[in-house]
Amino acid sequence: MNWDDTTDAEAAAERLVGAAADGEDQAVEAALRPKDLGEFIGQEKVREQLDLVLRAARARGATADHVLLSGAPGLGKTTLSMIIAAEMAAPIRITSGPAIQHAGDLAAILSSLQEGEVLFLDEIHRMSRPAEEMLYMAMEDFRVDVIVGKGPGATAIPLELPPFTLVGATTRAGLLPPPLRDRFGFTAHMEFYGPAELERVIHRSAGLLDVEIDPTGAAEIAGRSRGTPRIANRLLRRVRDYAQVKADGLITQEIAAAALAVYEVDARGLDRLDRGVLEALLKLFGGGPVGLSTLAVAVGEERETVEEVAEPFLVREGLLARTPRGRVATPAAWAHLGLTPPRSQSSGNGQQDLFGA
Ligand code: ADP
Repeated sequence: MNWDDTTDAEAAAERLVGAAADGEDQAVEAALRPKDLGEFIGQEKVREQLDLVLRAARARGATADHVLLSGAPGLGKTTLSMIIAAEMAAPIRITSGPAIQHAGDLAAILSSLQEGEVLFLDEIHRMSRPAEEMLYMAMEDFRVDVIVGKGPGATAIPLELPPFTLVGATTRAGLLPPPLRDRFGFTAHMEFYGPAELERVIHRSAGLLDVEIDPTGAAEIAGRSRGTPRIANRLLRRVRDYAQVKADGLITQEIAAAALAVYEVDARGLDRLDRGVLEALLKLFGGGPVGLSTLAVAVGEERETVEEVAEPFLVREGLLARTPRGRVATPAAWAHLGLTPPRSQSSGNGQQDLFGA
């Protein structure tokens, strides 16, 4: 991807450390997905609870309760939905909120489900309102009203549905209307993964891809993966290429660090955009506070790109704070870029009130 002529937020989301799936991810992810709960790494609480829900349903010979999975992209929501289907020995249908714009689209999907089928609805918060209302009834009573005709002559024909399990996924459960949220029997929040878990993901994927990696190499990639298995798998593939071309194929710490330096992913997983924002904030504005628009102009990006693509991770990493007076760098940001805060900061101005530095 060429950064110089792609500045919109969507293109930025396709970067190497972006959490959304790109074309290559989609092609290889199928091979890397854990197939059952035992293979699924981390998320201990979610796994334990889901295991109980599924076992109980199996013991009753019933269809599992509807499941809502919330969490950032790339944390394993699609994978879990497939595992739910596999554990219930049920078929799965995969679709997403934005793909369902009319209630009729949803009716067509629901009425073609088989008994016990798992329906995975990604980005469920982005469904249209009428479709959402149809879903309420389908989830609760396994029934939909299909509207035939238009205007005063329109009639609702009730249609019985076979019992099915809806697995809804959303980046933020808070975005869902309460009536929809309440219809899920089980809600799980997926957390970002810790370094040890990401190392296990990387070792597992390396095994499946037939890539040789030592523990130091896995640790190096894990540290740059932003808590996200999808990013870990993607970085692993880029490092593998480098190891094959520039070395003997074995991924060590040195190889991983050198490879990811080529791709401008730094030791904490910041890429060029993230570092650009941080550098502008530190070098041009002395660490802030500075307004979002000014900061965006300084890095030559759209406001939205800075706010939606770069900042969330910088905030999560404790490198940047959004304050009422503007964006402010934390002491960790200065340390990360190897810069010394200006004297006035350590001797007391706004920064001191904010961070007690
Ligand atoms: P989401 O649906 O949340 O965006 P996916 O389920 O598509 O995420 O997962 C993205 C990739 O990360 C998949 O290739 C999957 O193999 C991998 N992955 C996600 N979670 C795990 C996990 N817990 N263990 C191993 N691999 C995982």
